[in-house]
Amino acid sequence: MTIDLRSDTVTRPTPAMREAMNKASVGDDVFGDDPSVNAFEEAVAQRAGYPAALFFPTGTQSNLTALMSHCQRGDEFIAGQHAHLYKYEAGGGAVLGSIQPQPVRHQPDGTLLLDDISEAIKPDDFHFARTRLLALENTFHGRVIPQEYIQKATSFAKEQGLATHLDGARLFNASVATGLPLSELCQGFDSVSLCFSKGLGAPVGSVLAGSEEFIATARRIRKMLGGGMRQSGILAAGCHHALDNHVERLAKDHQHALMLAEGLAGITGVEVLSCDTNMVFVRIPEQDCEGLRDYMASHDVVMMPSAQTRLVTHLDVSADDIERVIGLVHTYFSDNP
Ligand SMILES: *Cc1c(COP(=O)(O)O)cnc(C)c1O
Repeated sequence: MTIDLRSDTVTRPTPAMREAMNKASVGDDVFGDDPSVNAFEEAVAQRAGYPAALFFPTGTQSNLTALMSHCQRGDEFIAGQHAHLYKYEAGGGAVLGSIQPQPVRHQPDGTLLLDDISEAIKPDDFHFARTRLLALENTFHGRVIPQEYIQKATSFAKEQGLATHLDGARLFNASVATGLPLSELCQGFDSVSLCFSKGLGAPVGSVLAGSEEFIATARRIRKMLGGGMRQSGILAAGCHHALDNHVERLAKDHQHALMLAEGLAGITGVEVLSCDTNMVFVRIPEQDCEGLRDYMASHDVVMMPSAQTRLVTHLDVSADDIERVIGLVHTYFSDNP
């Protein structure tokens, strides 16, 4: 079996998940008739501590819908310079929402300084876009954003009259890593987007949660963006299975990431930069990147070595796989000192 460390999106549905999908009762969700979608949305809303939730095909569409629900044309959102919804979603907020992004640089721990946020907020003056929203991300590059910071940043945003959105694509990892319930990690945010197609192992699916009114707006925008799906209960059932069965096991992925970081740290040639939740970042010398990639590929291990290589553990990576990866990297650098 191939060991793929590029991302936790590479997971395949387990036989039990396929079984749950196979057995799902379905209906036309655009009419609100899909019992599996309705049950899943309700379960996620409850878990995250919001009155309502909405099922999406992707996290990108869920985030974009959140931006467009909070902001009108000519409004502005503030997000980190490396935030997924600013940097990795093809500029959708600007292109499709006519919403101006205002990126702010990150601190080394992934947070945004309140002073930097404050400076980015435009005064009420017709020269400026209207600053409407602060969007944060947790986990950020695998890192758990401290709850104390989240409380300060969201209170500050509220004081400034901004709405708040959390890109919680991997918020379940943060919940398992901290032992804090998901609802606690969502406190202070008007909306949250959660992914089930990452470490939770569903093939497709994200959820946006918020107030009833917010989700009613989001439903219209999701339709506009082409995300009104029909018998999507097949997909929701896979996500619901993940919610019920794959959350606690994220702790294993975190252990495996730690094992990997510790194993690689002992190898001359590899510099371990960080290890947080299910992500390890390592530096590989430039002259070794291609060689290592090809060597690993020849042993059925997929990774993309670079100056900042991201290695991600997930449902389809076992402790034995981690040992194997460490052994192979060790052999490569012994043979290519
Ligand atoms: C994966 C991811 C998303 C959503 O990505 P999709 O591939 O569109 O589901 C959003 N934010 C973060 C931080 C992510 O990692």
